[in-house]
Amino acid sequence: MLEVRDLSVSYGQHRALAGASVRVGKGEIVVILGANGAGKSTLLKAVSGICEGKVAGSVQMDGIDISAMAPDRIVEEGIALVPEGRGIFGDLSVHDNLILGAYPKRARDEEAAHLEQVFTLFPRLRERLRQTVRTMSGGEQQMVAIGRAMMSNPAILTLDEPSLGLSPLLCKDLFQSLKVVRQAGIGILLVEQNAKQSLAIADRGYLLENGQIVHEDTAEKLMKDPAVQKAYLGGGGAAAPITHRGKGPGPKPPVPQPAATRPRPAGPSPSDIAAAALQNFAQPASAKPTPAPAPKAPPPRPVAQPAPPPAPPTTSAAPGPHGIDVAGMVARASARSAEPRPNGAAPKPAPRPAIPPRPPIPEVRMPDLGESADRLRSVLAEIEEAAARARDYRPKGRKP
Ligand code: ATP
Repeated sequence: MLEVRDLSVSYGQHRALAGASVRVGKGEIVVILGANGAGKSTLLKAVSGICEGKVAGSVQMDGIDISAMAPDRIVEEGIALVPEGRGIFGDLSVHDNLILGAYPKRARDEEAAHLEQVFTLFPRLRERLRQTVRTMSGGEQQMVAIGRAMMSNPAILTLDEPSLGLSPLLCKDLFQSLKVVRQAGIGILLVEQNAKQSLAIADRGYLLENGQIVHEDTAEKLMKDPAVQKAYLGGGGAAAPITHRGKGPGPKPPVPQPAATRPRPAGPSPSDIAAAALQNFAQPASAKPTPAPAPKAPPPRPVAQPAPPPAPPTTSAAPGPHGIDVAGMVARASARSAEPRPNGAAPKPAPRPAIPPRPPIPEVRMPDLGESADRLRSVLAEIEEAAARARDYRPKGRKP
């Protein structure tokens, strides 16, 4: 139904997309996975006719070439975009935002029916019909953005990182809603960094690296692929990094690796620290020895304080009930966060003593928390992803 062939986009000298080919069928969820700057948003914008760069290649919708069409004509052909950041009108009500979505000719006659469809998908919107959108929560605003796109009666819905900024629970609800959209026969092209949840609902997926599609497979196979697990699902297997798999010759330009494939510095990750803290937390009172001397107040901000001494764990604090030195881990993590950034934007001007290599962190096993375990794992994954995003954040347009 949607057929993208050999799509290339350049912003001046910078080639953001290089010969990408993607297809989405009726009632199919297709996910595009890729690191920051891989070209995911560029791909969606080029499909929707709103890309600022120079676009070459072919985009066809039901056999009609739409690559040279104006954005409003592309919506008339059945492609609706939910952009990153949502693009909703914050000062208008939910109702007005939704009705604006029904402006295309293909949607006008069925406005009332589509409104009902949106309310079935997101009952909250019916309750909040007169609320000004900017006063709504992030999750509710995302419902408005998706609802507005649905009001255009799309055949293909494209979404740019819809889960960004949502809590794990809201993310789950959002991905469930997309499954309902698929049931209506609408094809979904989903750009996401939340690989786990998006692959869980997707039919197929593509891996985009440095503007090139390097792999395509069913979502099921992608989830089991060790390289995908390592790069996108936080897996720890000894998989080879994802490489250019037969999509044309030529070496890839020297660009940063995806966040998850970049070797992590030694030391505890935020989820190590959180898991250790949770483990202490989850001990039954009777089994709890003297609690580890965790600071009552949050640790001092590294910007205002001298760097914490790089003490080995045995000297920093008594180990917790599982031999885990939580306070030491927190202190080392604080020291790490105060280290100068690679782009030269050091968080504090004073030079700090080098931190010696740290001893290996003991493996942390999650306690059996019953139903809460899923929730906790999800929170830990969020922390890990947020930390990775923060590490890799570069303002758009700036070279790494
Ligand atoms: P993210 O997940 O961070 O949004 P992405 O995979 O969506 O990343 P794009 O936004 O498509 O990546 O950007 C791809 C590359 O093109 C990046 O290097 C970006 O800096 C560059 N780029 C994007 N838009 C423009 C623009 N308008 N002008 C110049 N360069 C741009």
